[in-house]
Amino acid sequence: MLSRFKPDMKIESIYELTGELLEAINIKVLISDLDNTIAKYENEVPDDRVKEWVRDLSEHGVSLVVVSNNGEERVKKYCDPLGVAHFWKSGKPSRKTIRLAMEKYGGTCETTALVGDKIITDIVGAKRSGVLAIKVSPLGKRRMFE
Ligand SMILES: [Mg+2]
Repeated sequence: MLSRFKPDMKIESIYELTGELLEAINIKVLISDLDNTIAKYENEVPDDRVKEWVRDLSEHGVSLVVVSNNGEERVKKYCDPLGVAHFWKSGKPSRKTIRLAMEKYGGTCETTALVGDKIITDIVGAKRSGVLAIKVSPLGKRRMFE
């Protein structure tokens, strides 16, 4: 398998990425995909478990930044109640928005990770950007046309 398609780490759920773990491996900025990574397509707003996860990350000095290829309406509706930074129509696997998100929140390649469910957008984007690439199992099976 070509290395640009190969995640550095594989997990079943974002909840495995605790603040404690990320702090221990010196990750300060966690860039996350939205659809099928944090939220199923049908979840328009975050539930308490997601809110608690964001709080835990924050308590350990980890900034969560959502970088999604989905549109403004979807991304804002989900991320505003969560109080996290977010970018829509990000064009992953392009490096542009990933690097922007990393730099805006004070991360470097060594202190930034990207988690997502899709190899061709999330993992390739993370590898191109030089950050830790974490593959999560998708939450749902349904795919939307973009
Ligand atoms: Mg996704």
